[in-house]
Amino acid sequence: TPVVEVSNLVKRFRRESGAVVNAIDDVSFEVAAGDFVVLLGPSGCGKTTLLRAIAGLETPDQGSIRISGRPVYSSADRVDVPPERRDISMIFQSYALWPHMTAFKNVAYPLQSRRGRKIAKDDIARRVRQALELVGVGELEKQYPGQMSGGQQQRIALARALVNNDELVLFDEPLSNVDAKVREQLRFELVSMQRKLGFSALFVTHDQTEAMELAHRIAVLDSGRIVQFGSPQEIYHRPATRYVAKFIGAINEVVGTVTTVDGGSVVVDSPYGKFVGATVGHRFSVGDRAAAMWRPERGRLTQDEPRTVNRWPGRVKAPLFVGSHTEYLVSVGASQTDVRLWSPRSDLVAAGSEAWVSVDADDVLVLPVD
Ligand code: ADP
Ligand code: MG
Repeated sequence: TPVVEVSNLVKRFRRESGAVVNAIDDVSFEVAAGDFVVLLGPSGCGKTTLLRAIAGLETPDQGSIRISGRPVYSSADRVDVPPERRDISMIFQSYALWPHMTAFKNVAYPLQSRRGRKIAKDDIARRVRQALELVGVGELEKQYPGQMSGGQQQRIALARALVNNDELVLFDEPLSNVDAKVREQLRFELVSMQRKLGFSALFVTHDQTEAMELAHRIAVLDSGRIVQFGSPQEIYHRPATRYVAKFIGAINEVVGTVTTVDGGSVVVDSPYGKFVGATVGHRFSVGDRAAAMWRPERGRLTQDEPRTVNRWPGRVKAPLFVGSHTEYLVSVGASQTDVRLWSPRSDLVAAGSEAWVSVDADDVLVLPVD
């Protein structure tokens, strides 16, 4: 049985103005045991509301939620299990530590407050120290949150979320308040902890890099709906929509009209020439508007005219050395459209010179434009 099963969940809010917001708009998905699932989307798309609904902190309007096979919410059956009886741990963006308690007391708190089960004092101490060691702050046991850095506080919050050994841990942008270096470090540690301890994770973020690094699977959210659910590879290489393609990673886009449809291959006429691309599961008819999209690392830049079908003469603006690669901005075609190309080489073509841009048909995704 999946650890989380969300079916047709709906949650509306009424704003002060009276307008109704569909914060969660008919969402269904599952989290398998041991899975690390990331909910990814821009601010306001409903991530926190969805997480809070699963935790029991927000009552949905419709749908159902099961945790490890047990219904915890169902509008049809009038089930609504309170948060403390859902056996879920949650960690927030603000560390939400008790300022008047030491690290030890903060981490011990969930063990002492759990309903019913009385845990022996020695056991509590052992488990708290284990959790603190696990997140690498064993030595901070007696410190108060005010005496710690942001990264240290977030480690304590993480220890508190893990101390219960719950099967499911919910994360609401827990790394967004710590500085970049620490954030990167914590991501690596989080992935290895999850693997070691085996809990299932549902992690919310608006940061696509973070999502790619952490997730086994990513659910991309747009205005309260899941627009794609897949592995980071699928989401990156086979985005289902333009929204997904643009939200994850950098991508070039040229909008035009479909002139030929041949199985999985489509020709799009654009302001800077014809594009041959792959349809990635969408159906097109001649005359449809469509976007030809491709990743900057898939494009090539050559002085000689290449043999590829997708090729255009252009003028190189500035090669920007980024360290791991060089970014070339090239204006192409009569419309002087700017396209981006990335190469590990920084000496392909000098600024201001003319060059050919090319990309394989397999690397051009043709997506619908509405
Ligand atoms: P995210 O976490 O992705 O930034 P939220 O789940 O916080 O998004 O919010 C989703 C939408 O629901 C937003 O439009 C937000 O303004 C609205 N919303 C969230 N909570 C409330 C609330 N308590 N009252 C009214 N509107 C809310
Ligand atoms: Mg949020």
